[in-house]
Amino acid sequence: MKTFSIAIHGGAGTLIKGLMTQELEVQYKNALKRARDAGYEILKNGGTAIDAVEISVKLLEDSPLFNAGKGSVFTAEGTHEMDAAIMEGKNLEAGAVSLITGIKNPVSLARDVMEKSYHVFLAGDGAMNFAKDQNYDLEDPDYFYDEVRYKQWQGIKDSNSFQLDHSVKKDGKFGTVGAVACDHEGNIAAATSTGGMTNKKWGRVGDSPMIGAGNYANNKTCAVSCTGSGEFFIRGVVAYDVSCLMEYKGLSLEEASNEVINKRILEIKGDGGLIAVDANGNIAMPFNTEGMYRASKSSNGIETISIYKD
Ligand code: ASP
Repeated sequence: MKTFSIAIHGGAGTLIKGLMTQELEVQYKNALKRARDAGYEILKNGGTAIDAVEISVKLLEDSPLFNAGKGSVFTAEGTHEMDAAIMEGKNLEAGAVSLITGIKNPVSLARDVMEKSYHVFLAGDGAMNFAKDQNYDLEDPDYFYDEVRYKQWQGIKDSNSFQLDHSVKKDGKFGTVGAVACDHEGNIAAATSTGGMTNKKWGRVGDSPMIGAGNYANNKTCAVSCTGSGEFFIRGVVAYDVSCLMEYKGLSLEEASNEVINKRILEIKGDGGLIAVDANGNIAMPFNTEGMYRASKSSNGIETISIYKD
């Protein structure tokens, strides 16, 4: 049987060391383990990569520790606007939603866009109408409330600035979530979900729901989910750039991922990281920040859960 594997992330950057307690670290690691293992179980039972990445991202969305679904950051208006994308590498099918609110699991809505609409990307009121047509229940705003995120917003809401999640200093924590997987048939998939940036306004959309920027999958090359300052990741077309370096230049997954995160995106001062798999089950998880919440598991026995640089 082919190697199957999964990698997940809960955002690049980390809580600056002083704010991270041992107890909190355990909570983060447990949440990562739960999400990773749920996706891995699907793969182990012969399930598909797309099912694995959806379940892992759903569990991360359900945890208030991460800036996606429950626990999403506040916009300048004190609301939550969430973005998500999902993509399958075997046929380049993709679905994405942006500027949605009240949806418990944005990644599932993105999957419904992929499977139940003729479109790839739905945004704002239109995406919400689509959700209504698909019989989604709407959560009360209280469901998404998280005190830490509320305080972050209170700290900057009267200014013109916007801020990355937990970003007390430059090297803050971003908190977007994502998963990439390779199943036993060698099909790969990627999913990404986020609340975006604290105090964002004007319908700001980051890289996460943009196919090719924050999320991409192609069986010929790789499946990628990104996290970091979205504006740079959009300009660098980061996820697709990793794929292009593999397809056109013949780089390995590891080489291509490193080249993009530790060189090309740094050249435009972009901070963040990504997780990636290829159709042989190889995994890469580079980041150029102090840390990145991440975990992986592969049928070849490799198992990791990490926050800071090893
Ligand atoms: N990339 C996300 C955005 O810009 C932020 C993050 O990674 O947390 O919306």
